[in-house]
Amino acid sequence: MFDLFKPTFQADSLDSIPMDVLKRNGIRGLIIDLDNTMTPWNDLEVGPKVVEWFEKLKVAGIQACVVSNNKRKQRVAVVAERLGIPFVFRATKPRRRAFQAGMNVLGTGISDTAVIGDQLFTDILGGNRMEMYTILVLPINDREFIGTRLLRRMERVLVWLMKRYETSEPHGTKVR
Ligand SMILES: [Mg+2]
Repeated sequence: MFDLFKPTFQADSLDSIPMDVLKRNGIRGLIIDLDNTMTPWNDLEVGPKVVEWFEKLKVAGIQACVVSNNKRKQRVAVVAERLGIPFVFRATKPRRRAFQAGMNVLGTGISDTAVIGDQLFTDILGGNRMEMYTILVLPINDREFIGTRLLRRMERVLVWLMKRYETSEPHGTKVR
């Protein structure tokens, strides 16, 4: 059960995800979370490193689509349009249809699309359920609304449980 919360790959930030990792795994499309992955929560500014990273994506021939649970279309649109990429707002991650909507926009499928986000309960759980490649990044900052803060607390409990569970496992039984 905990495997559903385990990302395939982890990075400190969006702009530190190496192109090699994406290429090596046959990734042609990216479903990217907005709040705290691309920008601080409800902030419109995209950092220069993030802009540079998106340039590298283009060079590598990898497409990207913003898939955000944010309900404010304008907020999502402004950031996506600034980077010249499509977007899905009010996406209802971790539900399957949220990821399917992103893949429809990208014209890619489960095997060549990766999900990138900062939350285990929406981005990683949802992507893993779809059996997609998942990448967890650290949240940009803590300026989040209360619901997200509660989820974070639950995430910490979950991570603690996972560690406990893993260390209490009998040796030699891990299949990965
Ligand atoms: Mg987020």
